[in-house]
Amino acid sequence: MSKNVYQFIDVKRIDPAKKSIADRKINFVEIYQPLGNEQSAGQADRCLDCGNPYCEWKCPVHNYIPQWLELVTEDRIFEAADLCHETNSLPEMCGRVCPQDRLCESACTLNDEFGAVTIGNIEKYITDTAIEQGWKPDLSHVIKTGKRVAVIGAGPAGLACADVLTRNGVDAVVFDKHAQIGGLLTFGIPSFKLEKEVIQTRREILEGMGIEFRLNTEVGKDISFSDISDEFDAVFLALGTYTDMTGGFEHEGAAGVYNALDFLIGNTQKLMGITEKESNHVKPYVEFSGKKVIVLGGGDTAMDCVRTSIRQGATEVTCAYRRDEANMPGSPREVQNAKEEGVNFEFNIQPLDIAVNDEGVAIGVKFVKTQLGAPDANGRRNPEPIEGSEFVMEADAVVIAFGFLPSPPKWMVDAGVELDSRGRVIAVDNSEFALQTTKQNVFAGGDMVLGSDLVVTAIDQGRKAAIGILDFVTTN
Ligand code: FAD
Ligand code: SF4
Repeated sequence: MSKNVYQFIDVKRIDPAKKSIADRKINFVEIYQPLGNEQSAGQADRCLDCGNPYCEWKCPVHNYIPQWLELVTEDRIFEAADLCHETNSLPEMCGRVCPQDRLCESACTLNDEFGAVTIGNIEKYITDTAIEQGWKPDLSHVIKTGKRVAVIGAGPAGLACADVLTRNGVDAVVFDKHAQIGGLLTFGIPSFKLEKEVIQTRREILEGMGIEFRLNTEVGKDISFSDISDEFDAVFLALGTYTDMTGGFEHEGAAGVYNALDFLIGNTQKLMGITEKESNHVKPYVEFSGKKVIVLGGGDTAMDCVRTSIRQGATEVTCAYRRDEANMPGSPREVQNAKEEGVNFEFNIQPLDIAVNDEGVAIGVKFVKTQLGAPDANGRRNPEPIEGSEFVMEADAVVIAFGFLPSPPKWMVDAGVELDSRGRVIAVDNSEFALQTTKQNVFAGGDMVLGSDLVVTAIDQGRKAAIGILDFVTTN
């Protein structure tokens, strides 16, 4: 019988059920219930299999979305998992943390009128189910090249690069200063979006493929870059971006003011039970239980901070943003989740300084109200302060979540890797060897090349760099 292409009219889009608010407010576990087999197949069947699938084009790794949706309707999960891995090294992570409402699902033909196909959650369903049923990457056809590549940084860019290198017969050794793989997947993104067991499962798969991890190893401190460069045929740099953007406030250094990433890393390390015994990179644990918290910023990192504060038992949590809700940089889905969990949002207010008491301890934030002015070159309307509208909002703790700037290490620059005017590593994917830096045997990708971005774009760069490296090591 031929497929009923009008399925989407009768079968509405469903998102997976969320756990109860009471549960979500105290637990650091993923908030979405998994989609079941029948639900996934029913939702996958809503796909129109468009001739020119916009979802696939909008996806940064160009996943073969309509094809794997069809395999789900036929319950061919291992084949679907193989197909997912043809374009994406970490599909279970993307299914959980990609802002689908800005990427694949926003581009779905059904999006406006009928509700986009539930792409992200089906991607998660495919990989989780296949792995649970014993799926493993098939490397039986791989012919070893005898080449060895060092990957520095075990975040999504580094892991994706190691995955593609291994599938092409190159031995990959991944160095990371942390005690666990994952980079920001592990330590930045909180477990209510991505449980850490998911990363452990992927580690087992990658190790099963033959990838070696040398953890607790900081390049430039525990091992020199020149030693690595001498030992391996090529090096892939995927160190991320870790310089916090500041507000330039007079009292930014006051007690009670915290930067977003240190707060999130400290919280996750505590939950994972990582102590100074296991790692030299443990951040202090800060707890907001019983406190009134203001988080400054409107991006996804700010959403992670407000939702972490709620789970720690803060009495009141406010997210303060200088534009309106429509102009927030964060994913609308995460803003909605934060609202459901009890976060207050104050829009159109711009911080001027941290308010402090006589001992210099933060007691709030001094704001000025704003109105939106003319759009800038990117079409975003700039906030303009309203004269005489200054006021202080009280708080016991303030978190600054303004984003991140590049953090290129000196050893890398000394080795001849050049940066652009914003401190990002210069490496382009359409050069002779994709993502080669200005130093011949060194490649780079992810946030350190793009600037602070997304998991899926880091994966894309890691995969492209692996092809560039493969071309390089097999022709040199
Ligand atoms: P990273 O993930 O930063 O990994 C870099 C790795 O390099 C780290 O493990 C680090 O320890 C290691 N390293 C650095 N220097 C050295 C050294 N000298 N020696 C050895 N190892 C070193 N993106 C999304 O798509 N969805 C989200 O929901 C999302 N949420 C986010 C939440 C937060 C709080 C933050 C900060 C970011 C979020 N992002 C999200 C962005 C995303 O996590 C990053 O874009 C992505 O992780 C970048 O990958 P990467 O591999 O380039 O770098
Ligand atoms: Fe959508 Fe991200 Fe999956 Fe691509 S990788 S299909 S953008 S969820």
